[in-house]
Amino acid sequence: MSRTKYDEDCPGCRPVAIDMKTGRPLPDDHPMMRTLAAIWQKTGPLHKAAFHRVTCLNNKSMLDLALAREYIQEVEAAAKGDPQGDDAKPTLQ
Ligand SMILES: [Zn+2]
Repeated sequence: MSRTKYDEDCPGCRPVAIDMKTGRPLPDDHPMMRTLAAIWQKTGPLHKAAFHRVTCLNNKSMLDLALAREYIQEVEAAAKGDPQGDDAKPTLQ
């Protein structure tokens, strides 16, 4: 599968968080995943397209990485203070 543009249906475009204990993606009902999804809904097309280029197309452009990190940082800020957040990490993979 090769997509050149961001697509709402592209599975690789959906941000995921990793369980730091197991190294596996968290289930959708984990608080961190809910935070990821809530912020993703508010994320604009510019950031979504950048996220897609970084995660799906393995693009290493500084601008795209910076935009994708902005989203991750927003998630980390929102998850701060959540006791379950310590074991979970949003990822660009
Ligand atoms: Zn994608």
